Amino acid sequence: MAAPSTSDGMNAPLRHPEKARKPDQPSPPKPAWIRVKAPMSREYQETRDLMRALRLNTVCEEAACPNIGECWKEKHATVMILGAVCTRACAFCNVATGKPGAVDPHEPAHVAEAVGKLGLHHIVVTSVDRDDLPDGGADQFVQTIQAIRRAAPATTVEVLTPDFLKKDDAIEAVVAARPDVYNHNLETVPRLYREVRPGARYAASLELLARVKRLDASMFTKSGLMVGLGETLDEVDAVMDDLRAADVDFLTVGQYLQPTPKHHAVARFVSPAEFAGIKERAFAKGFLMVSASPLTRSSYFAGDDFVKLRQARAARLALVP
Ligand code: SF4
Repeated sequence: MAAPSTSDGMNAPLRHPEKARKPDQPSPPKPAWIRVKAPMSREYQETRDLMRALRLNTVCEEAACPNIGECWKEKHATVMILGAVCTRACAFCNVATGKPGAVDPHEPAHVAEAVGKLGLHHIVVTSVDRDDLPDGGADQFVQTIQAIRRAAPATTVEVLTPDFLKKDDAIEAVVAARPDVYNHNLETVPRLYREVRPGARYAASLELLARVKRLDASMFTKSGLMVGLGETLDEVDAVMDDLRAADVDFLTVGQYLQPTPKHHAVARFVSPAEFAGIKERAFAKGFLMVSASPLTRSSYFAGDDFVKLRQARAARLALVP
């Protein structure tokens, strides 16, 4: 197959070379509750221009997030450090797969500059998987947290990290840098890991979250799930139990959307009423904070939700005699 051409006539690398030969995976049509507005605001354009000027990547763009128009209108962008090319090839993810380039030593300072220019009270920093680096990219997370702390001490910092599989001491290094929230997404139920998240291990991701809490009991932990990949609601409930056993504070649950026909098919669209049921059951299981709706994403309204998360912990502690 010929490589697609860019506007300047050069051949662009395939974004998902490992999926190119796969047959298309037909998904059902989107229901009315999934429709989102096209991104058109002045603030959207300003956020985009700033990210380009600082040579920063965002998961909002790279993952083709449906909320980009709404979030960027508020200048809420989620920065994706360590480049825009991922060493994994998850079946759900739109981030490009391949051999990543060198780590940019200026990136932490550029993230801190963006936080100041966007006037963010809360920033979510995520990354691609960097299995090629000895520390999985942990030090770049540390540098980025420290740069934000220096430039904007009042801004709260949430990290959404990879699983750091087989990267000894990486989790410890990130926790020691003291982000306000440590997020790591389980993404799906264990039965679907081999087809949805083949490079990852459910038990290892769960253990990461438990380890963060053991290292620093005061740190908020957070995890997210996509639904509509073929899981059952009973399996979702079992994952919630696992997360509570790992003492995770905050759960996000959103509808999986297929980025391209080569990605995992949408098995079904979970109705808003079912999301409401998931949310109710999650709160009953003891999560401090739950966001569950068709368009919920890990970083969707993360700043507002962080305020609620802190309030929920304070309220619960006040009940303890
Ligand atoms: S939900 Fe998260 S990833 Fe999506 S646009 Fe908003 S901040 Fe970006």
